[in-house]
Amino acid sequence: MKGASTASCVSPPAHLERLNSMKKLVRILIFIICVLILFWGCKNFIGIKYTVDEASCIGCGRCYDACPHNAIFYNAGKAVIIQSKCKQCGLCVPVCPNDAIH
Ligand code: SF4
Ligand code: SF4
Repeated sequence: MKGASTASCVSPPAHLERLNSMKKLVRILIFIICVLILFWGCKNFIGIKYTVDEASCIGCGRCYDACPHNAIFYNAGKAVIIQSKCKQCGLCVPVCPNDAIH
């Protein structure tokens, strides 16, 4: 038993404890921010709205079918996003064949 260590009984210096607490706090904040971004969607998080580029829209109806919030209607054969209903989920964007939703 010669040379048995007693290091496990020694508590870390106060500045190391504070550093570890700060690291934990930063990890928690990053986690919360990631959850918020996932929950609301990036566009909503930074306050940007989806809109349809009228010139590119061919009125195919794919975005209408993809929208789970009934936020799209048609005006003169072109899709229009109702901003008050849109939840910025982004589901309409990848289905557009003409890349008309931004
Ligand atoms: S972003 Fe989502 S809620 Fe808004 S129009 Fe597109 S599919 Fe609908
Ligand atoms: S999916 Fe694109 S092209 Fe089709 S109606 Fe919607 S915005 Fe227009």
